[in-house]
Amino acid sequence: MPLLDIRNLTIELNTPHGRVKAVERVSLTINPGEIHGLVGESGSGRSLLARAILGIPGHNWTIQADRMMWEGQNLMDMTSKERRALMGSEMAMIFQDPISSLDPTISVGVQIIEAMPENRTLPWWKREKDKRVKAQQWLHKVGVKDAQKVMGSYPWELSDGECQKVMIAIAVANQPKLLIADEPTNSMEVRTQAQIFRLLSKLNQLQNVSILLISHELETLSQWCDRLSVMYSGQIMESGPTSELIAQPYHPYTKALLDNIPDYSNPEHHKTMMNTLPGSAPALQHLPIGCRLGPRCPQAQKLCVNQPNLCHQKDRYFACHFPYHNEPCNDESLTKS
Ligand code: SF4
Repeated sequence: MPLLDIRNLTIELNTPHGRVKAVERVSLTINPGEIHGLVGESGSGRSLLARAILGIPGHNWTIQADRMMWEGQNLMDMTSKERRALMGSEMAMIFQDPISSLDPTISVGVQIIEAMPENRTLPWWKREKDKRVKAQQWLHKVGVKDAQKVMGSYPWELSDGECQKVMIAIAVANQPKLLIADEPTNSMEVRTQAQIFRLLSKLNQLQNVSILLISHELETLSQWCDRLSVMYSGQIMESGPTSELIAQPYHPYTKALLDNIPDYSNPEHHKTMMNTLPGSAPALQHLPIGCRLGPRCPQAQKLCVNQPNLCHQKDRYFACHFPYHNEPCNDESLTKS
């Protein structure tokens, strides 16, 4: 049974310019022990999707879904109290903006200890000390140099990078079943980024923690994830096992992302233009008719004024009338997303 199984999730936002569909008919499945990468540029709806999974919607959101199953239970049927309990115990998130996600009035050490489960095998008078030692160990594992000093510091006394590491320590100390990491290495130097990804990978392997890793860097995600889903303008464009998707992308947007990765074995000349799609992602109030990638797509044809359905072939999903390396879905085989 999948850990998380979402079908046709749509998030509408009430904005001063009217109602917009920020996420439309998104389906996502995460299996136990899987690292699932969600790649897409800013504004593609990745973070909204993560917040909808956790049950922390904004005040102007309307969420609809055919189903959002968590270990066989429909999250849509749960009360907000039940959702909060789930978030505190089985799901955790590393937010993009660590400073505003930490409580500035409570020291870092206390915030980590609050998130940790109790070791009930110990007598009660030893549990607090045990938590304190483990909190310090987690800080050390995520790359905080002076863990003891940071334990007693307040978030506003720390740099962005240190706050990010504290956020990660809080999330992993909770020992969740699903960890959602939204750009977890933002504002970190390259060496620490590698250290964080290694830590997440180790958590996944040793404690079977499933991870939804959200980033705009396809290259990084492809190194760490078992499966990838590619999002553009609020919709899933393509999804599949990482190795297959990288070797043979079906969707023009996935191919464009791959073409955009610099070839380090063959250095380009100074000021060489990189391969990019023309134009930019559409504003949600002005979405094109039909396929959302249409105005930027090198493969676009007349048929693309009709929105493509999500097509399912073996272990791969893609939403395109004219995929690369593959036949388009005929109407009978279309899987309505
Ligand atoms: S449906 Fe058409 S416009 Fe959309 S990605 Fe495929 S070829 Fe491009």
